[in-house]
Amino acid sequence: MNVMANTLDRGFYMYQEEFEQKALEVLRSGWYVLGREVSSFETEFAGYIGCRHCVGLASGLDALWIAFRILGIGAGDEVLVQGNTYIASVMGITMNGATPVFIEPDEYYNLDASKLEEKITDRTKAILVVHLYGQASNMGEIMKIANKYNLRVVEDCAQSHGAKFNGQMTGTFGDIGCFSFYPSKNLGAFGDAGAIVTNDDRIAEDVRVFRNYGSEKRYYNKVVGANSRLDELQAGLLRVRLKHMDQLEAQKRDICERYLRELDAEKFELPKIREGATHIWHQFVIKSDRRDALAEYLKDKGIGTIIHYPIPPHLSEAYQYLGFREGSFPITEEYAKSVLSIPLFYGMREEEQDYVIHWMNRFQE
Ligand SMILES: *Cc1c(COP(=O)(O)O)cnc(C)c1O
Repeated sequence: MNVMANTLDRGFYMYQEEFEQKALEVLRSGWYVLGREVSSFETEFAGYIGCRHCVGLASGLDALWIAFRILGIGAGDEVLVQGNTYIASVMGITMNGATPVFIEPDEYYNLDASKLEEKITDRTKAILVVHLYGQASNMGEIMKIANKYNLRVVEDCAQSHGAKFNGQMTGTFGDIGCFSFYPSKNLGAFGDAGAIVTNDDRIAEDVRVFRNYGSEKRYYNKVVGANSRLDELQAGLLRVRLKHMDQLEAQKRDICERYLRELDAEKFELPKIREGATHIWHQFVIKSDRRDALAEYLKDKGIGTIIHYPIPPHLSEAYQYLGFREGSFPITEEYAKSVLSIPLFYGMREEEQDYVIHWMNRFQE
């Protein structure tokens, strides 16, 4: 048997008829960018998140850099962000000329709130909280510190659609929540797409203007903006998937509960869930001292895995200019050497789950 880390077409076939019908509807409508599908999706997604506004954008990275741009955070400013995130989070900061200040992660792979205060300077303007792998971060502590130092909070929710902390949705704690709908995300499109959510009317309006060349009215440009529009096809297809989010969430939860029950906890460090947090299982990430040998062994059995992420942003070639070295962030670096994401996707069959569990548990340490 072959079980790939991800098999995205399964998620399409689950609702094939609805997707195909919607695609045809949009193709035949004669309206392809920023139209009825986009505004309906924005209303529906804001409803799902439980906030006042959603503004559709072209990608998750756009949501991040536009968020900082609209908040006026740029050159000379510092933004606190966890060290083990996907590099796009960091690019959202640096594309505006601001400086990322890395914070080590906790045992849940999220920002360690107890390490925030020691990194705050008079240049610190914001915290970028990434709810990594699908688990909500420690928002109680983080918001306490943000309020004490009067810092802006931006949430990177690219992996946390629907995850909550103390019953509140991720994306609604801070000033702006940034979402990606890249095809492999829990709410995925069939191409690139993203959005910001906010309860602030002014921020929503500014982003709405910014995404369309800074124009509110055609050919009247208020500011120098960008082209980051969500298209009708992606918005329509996202609406189809959003309708089924409950079922989709339950499906991943069932698979991961099986993994937690049946994988040998003596052999691998299984993911833990923080009290008060929910996990929507964007990835199921285990930790092992023999990660590379394990990945190689699984590959021999036909089981695909992915490392999220093998090179932490501070050690990537792109960020050499920040001046960090191996050893600068030991916990982040240790995670990069030992984490492994095992197969998990919508429409994953029971026999595929059996197969993964069977061979994982036979790995010889
Ligand atoms: C996917 C992802 C992004 C970027 O989203 P794109 O839509 O690919 O631009 C940003 N941050 C995190 C944590 C992500 O997982």
